Amino acid sequence: MEGNHSASKPSPALHVFMISFPAQGHVNPLLRLANYLASQGLLITFCTTESFGKKMRKANNILSHETQPSPVGLGSIRFEFFDDELDENDKTPLDYNWYVPHLELIGKQKLPMILKNQEEQGFPFVCCLVNNSFIPWASDVAESLDIPSAVFWVQSCACFSAYFHYYNSLVPFPTKAKPNLDVMIPFMPPLKYDEVPSFLHPFCRLGILGEAILGQFKNLSKSFCILMDTVQEYEAELVDYMSKFSNIKSIGPLFKASDSSAGIRADSLKPDDSCIEFLDSKPQSSVVYVSFGTHVYLKQEQIDEIAHGLLSSELLFLWVMKPPKNGLEPHVLPEGFLDKVGDKGKIVKWSNQEEVLAHPSIACFVTHCGWNSTMEALANGVPLLLFPQWGDQVTNAKYLVDVFKVGVLVCRGEAEHTIITRDEIEKCLFEATKGLKASEMRDNALKWKNMAEEAVAEGGSSGRNILAFIDELMVKANK
Ligand code: UDP
Repeated sequence: MEGNHSASKPSPALHVFMISFPAQGHVNPLLRLANYLASQGLLITFCTTESFGKKMRKANNILSHETQPSPVGLGSIRFEFFDDELDENDKTPLDYNWYVPHLELIGKQKLPMILKNQEEQGFPFVCCLVNNSFIPWASDVAESLDIPSAVFWVQSCACFSAYFHYYNSLVPFPTKAKPNLDVMIPFMPPLKYDEVPSFLHPFCRLGILGEAILGQFKNLSKSFCILMDTVQEYEAELVDYMSKFSNIKSIGPLFKASDSSAGIRADSLKPDDSCIEFLDSKPQSSVVYVSFGTHVYLKQEQIDEIAHGLLSSELLFLWVMKPPKNGLEPHVLPEGFLDKVGDKGKIVKWSNQEEVLAHPSIACFVTHCGWNSTMEALANGVPLLLFPQWGDQVTNAKYLVDVFKVGVLVCRGEAEHTIITRDEIEKCLFEATKGLKASEMRDNALKWKNMAEEAVAEGGSSGRNILAFIDELMVKANK
């Protein structure tokens, strides 16, 4: 998707308003979409909470006059952050059971005011409101203001299909009476009870997030398009099948499509530049990259086992240990660990993960299987060691092992309640980097990398789909 190759060049006044749930895994892909559409000549207003905006401002070069458009390619991006009325001094862990409905209450009041204010300030009318997971109420607001809306689905098409089939009761799912039921969905491999997105499981502790996602399925008919950060060819039959029910457009991997050097990033912590220096000093395919995304918090005991497993594997490693969220204890490394590791390993608080995974020194990625991390690994041709915990991670892990065939499964998810031992971790690291399976996984990973590159190249599936979306926007704008 390089350059502006839309047959009909969009008017510079085409204005899209995007609103994101305030989480890294949601803001990242939506801002990538913002960068891409802006580079094609659109004006994008990007909106999320002020609390997330503060972190973005600190870690990235977002201009101080952020409500004014900053040029990106042929178009521009501006920001609107709104106060979600959280107490900054409250250091207790955020309770999602409280926060999700709270955000809906606040958002439903503030979003219409933001939309009205920006019109009063002379910005062009909004031709489309794009929202992502956990904030289905944004399409209610769009509908009440007569603004066309689209959903940006930040998970795989497989997970979309699982939620769709659950919401519409199309196939049986586990229940309290039958918690171990396997799930059969057309054009998907059979999913064991613990391989369906965990929010759909009757015993899941984060049920409110499942409810918020299901709210999106209740509102599905309010959106004229479902954009997905996936590659058509990764889930070909399923995308075709699900397209019978909704106007689905696979437009990924967006991190490859949008030029991040020219664009604006959404990191909530400043990436550590020394990661690349470290990788530059190491041989090709020699470094294990370890990162569990932004929400997963492993038990200290599990961190100890991972540290010992890495040490006894004798592999080089780069490990992201981000500071924990409010109310959680920072992880500590086993005594003497860093001395024993020396220059064979590096620990950082935050990396530029896209850059790290694209580095030739990376051998494999120990991941929690968030969809962004999954796409970033697949599209960079990196084999994986899978540590899924909850949500879509367990389904992504299933696909990485059985469909994409690029992953070694280390655990089945948080619900398993087990600590994976150092010996097991060492064994899996060997399997992913040196064992018989390693070269097969690397070949498979290269296949997915090439597919991703073709999808975003001129004429590729994602390139065509995103241009078709821009054309649909133009029709809406001219109505
Ligand atoms: N990420 C990053 N640097 C890090 C760790 C994570 O840039 O050190 C980014 C990563 O590239 C991805 C996002 O944070 O885009 C995490 O999203 P994902 O869906 O993988 O997991 P989540 O945090 O939502 O569980």
